[in-house]
Amino acid sequence: MTDWPELEQKYFMRTIKRLPLTLVRGRGARVWDDAGREYLDFVGGWAVNSLGHCHPALVQALAEQAGTLIQASNQFYTVPQIRLAELLVQHSCFNKVFFCNSGAEANEGAVKLARRYGKLHLQGAFEVITTFNSFHGRTLAMVAATGQKKFQEPYTPLPAGFVNVDYDSIEAIRAATTAQTCAVMLEAIQAEGGINVPSDGYLRQVRQWCDQKGILLILDEIQTGLGRIGTLFGYQQYGIEPDVITLAKGLASGVPIGVLLARKKADVFQPGEHGSTFGGNPLACAAAYATLKYVIDNDIPGNADRVGRYLSARLEALKSKFDFIVDVRGRGLLRAIEFRRDMADGVLTGCLEKGLLVNRVKPNVLRFIPPLIIGEAEVDQAMDILAEVLGGAARTE
Ligand SMILES: *Cc1c(COP(=O)(O)O)cnc(C)c1O
Repeated sequence: MTDWPELEQKYFMRTIKRLPLTLVRGRGARVWDDAGREYLDFVGGWAVNSLGHCHPALVQALAEQAGTLIQASNQFYTVPQIRLAELLVQHSCFNKVFFCNSGAEANEGAVKLARRYGKLHLQGAFEVITTFNSFHGRTLAMVAATGQKKFQEPYTPLPAGFVNVDYDSIEAIRAATTAQTCAVMLEAIQAEGGINVPSDGYLRQVRQWCDQKGILLILDEIQTGLGRIGTLFGYQQYGIEPDVITLAKGLASGVPIGVLLARKKADVFQPGEHGSTFGGNPLACAAAYATLKYVIDNDIPGNADRVGRYLSARLEALKSKFDFIVDVRGRGLLRAIEFRRDMADGVLTGCLEKGLLVNRVKPNVLRFIPPLIIGEAEVDQAMDILAEVLGGAARTE
C-alpha cells in the first residue's frame, strides 16, 4: 500500500500537522480510510459538508453541470450563478450578491466594500473594528482582521486599517470607534476561537451603535450560516439585520465557493472595482444551488436545531459524569466542550482509534461540527464512543 504520509512529507510545505489518517471515500456522515476502516465524521470537512458526503442531490447536480458548462468567464452571463443569487436573496434580508471562492476572499470583498462605502459616505473612513479570538481567514488582510497573535506574529507588519477589540463588549466597540471607522465585522458565534457565544443583546447593541454612527455592520457567517446553528442564517436568531454578510464553508456542501451579500445601502461597487476569475463558476454555483435548495426544502436548519439540542444534552450528561469537563457550549450543530486541562489532543486520538472524528479548536476545547443531515442515532453512536474515551481518560487521571 502506498505510504501517503511519507509522500506528503516529501512534497508539501509544512503548514499543517495532519492526523494519521488518509481518507479516500465518504457517504452521509461516514468516511473511510485507505485501509477500509470506517469513521463517523463529526468534523465534516471543517463545518463544510452540510449535506454529508456525496449527497445524491449534490452528486447529480455536479454531474449534470460538469457535462454542460464548467467555466465561462464573468464577461458573460451564466445561468447557475443567477439562479443561486436569486435563491440567496429570496431567503435573506439582502438585495445583492458577489461570488468568490473561499471565506477569506468573501471577507476581503466585504472589507473592500466597506472601504468604498467609507469613501462615498464617511469622508474616507477606512478602519474596520474586529474582535480578539475571531477568525476571518488567512490572507494578509484577514490575518490583520483575525484578532489572534499566533496568526499575526509570523507576518508583521500587517496591513493597516484593522482594530481588534474584546468580543461580546459593546463598550469596547464604542471606545474603538473613531472618525476613521467604516465598519464593524463580527462572527455571530466565534467558531475557530473556541465556540464563544455572545450574550443576549450584544449583536442588537452593536447594530444600534452602527446605525447611530452610520457605519456598516458586517457579519462573518462563514461558519454560522446555512443552517449550522439552527436557522438558515445566524443573524435571524439575534433579531438583527446586518448590512453585509459573508458565506462560504457549507454553501456548496464541499465544493469551494464564497459569497458576499449586501443590503441596498451597501451595494456600492462600481463596474471594474472588484472581480474574480472563478467566482460564480457554473460548477460551484450548481453545487451551491442544489445544496441550498435541499437545505431550504427539507428544513435542514430545523434538523440542526433539534439534533443539536440532543447533542448538547448528551454532552451535558458527560459533563455531569466527568468533572474535568468544565463547559458545554454552542448552538445547533456547532458545539464544543471545554476541559479543565489541555487534554483535547488525547481525547481526539482516542476517538479516532475508536472510529469517531472530532475537531480540536484549542488545547482544551473539542468542537463538534457534523453534517447537518445527521439524526439522533448518529449522535448516540458518537457520544457512546466519546463516553468510552473519557472514561479511559478518567481512569488515568
Ligand atoms: C473558515 C472561516 C473563514 C475562512 O474561510 P476560508 O474558506 O478558509 O478562507 C473565515 N471566517 C470564518 C468564521 C470561518 O469559520
